[in-house]
Amino acid sequence: MRPYIEFKNVVKQFGNFTALDHVSLEIPKGAFVTLLGPSGCGKTTLMRQLAGFSEPESGDVLVDGKRMNGLPPFKRNTPLVFQEYALFPHMTVYENISYGLKLNKTPKEEMDRRVQEMLKMFNLVGLEKRFPKEMSGGQQQRVAFARALVMGQEILLLDEPLSNLDAKLRVDVRTELRQIQQKLGITTIYVTHDQDEALSMSDIIAVMRSGHIEQIGSPWEIYFRPANRFVADFVGTVNFLTARIVSAEGGTVAADHNGMLLQIPTEVPVEPGETVTLVVRPECIRLAEPGESVPEGKSLEGQIENYSFLGRIIRYWVRVGEEQFIIDDANVDLSGARSGAVQLCLDTRKLHILKDGGSHDT
Ligand code: ATP
Repeated sequence: MRPYIEFKNVVKQFGNFTALDHVSLEIPKGAFVTLLGPSGCGKTTLMRQLAGFSEPESGDVLVDGKRMNGLPPFKRNTPLVFQEYALFPHMTVYENISYGLKLNKTPKEEMDRRVQEMLKMFNLVGLEKRFPKEMSGGQQQRVAFARALVMGQEILLLDEPLSNLDAKLRVDVRTELRQIQQKLGITTIYVTHDQDEALSMSDIIAVMRSGHIEQIGSPWEIYFRPANRFVADFVGTVNFLTARIVSAEGGTVAADHNGMLLQIPTEVPVEPGETVTLVVRPECIRLAEPGESVPEGKSLEGQIENYSFLGRIIRYWVRVGEEQFIIDDANVDLSGARSGAVQLCLDTRKLHILKDGGSHDT
């Protein structure tokens, strides 16, 4: 099926600086796609090429097969919602939401019907007559979404829209936003540097660094099958272990890490003798129960150095020789955190092998 939105080899320069270096990305209709990456990697710049606020030096931007290059923003049907909301302060909620419809000379009844629909959808009924300064940040943000969607566009562009909200509200609004997006089936591109937001909301995540896309995949793939150390490290907490491949047969490899032999199911092609990097998420390591007998060669002996109680998990920092491991233990009971010597067991089903032997820069 033809992608709905396509960036093809997009290059954007600011003087000598290359902000986008041959970026290609295909987005299916109705998808929620997140551009995720550190500050300055080019997320906003990529989105602006689609919205029409900026033109690439080379490459194409297509929507539904039509080339957008050169079209002014208002002809592109791609409203952009920023973190600053950009509501008109002297207009009420109703006037803010109906602004575009009024400019379009939409008949009064039709305008009223569409505004009411948005008020309902974004839980704003009863607030029509308020001015932006009389509302909370979360309410203002919802007005901004309503204003962007009232015109019935097929694409929504969101640039860090939740970053002015406090942590609890962010989680509420992101859940609500995702539900509405799915209900409307509106193709959405979302810019953030918040990995939790990206993992929880997206159908597809594109991880960016320095004007490049490092990986495109589902949240699951990005988290458990990162393409390289940068992606693994940027998306979540990670332990990197160097290991030597002992054998590789029938989709399972045996890898040795300091005398611990791990049987890892994998499709990554590796050869016996090769040195690889294992990507180990903190929740893929378990602290063996005191007194539990773990077979020889299946665990590592460590010493708990520190811990942090986070309610549903305890995060431990455990020293094993020269290395320090981060472990998220979900086995929280009322007796408090453990201390002293522990044995670490790895859930090998969730380990991922990077073929670079640890040499890839982070
Ligand atoms: P953030 O998360 O901080 O918003 P971002 O990934 O969205 O970052 P962009 O805003 O796309 O990053 O910027 C990418 C790079 O291009 C940055 O180094 C930025 O300084 C540079 N840049 C962006 N706009 C301009 C401009 N108009 N003139 C010169 N440089 C620019």
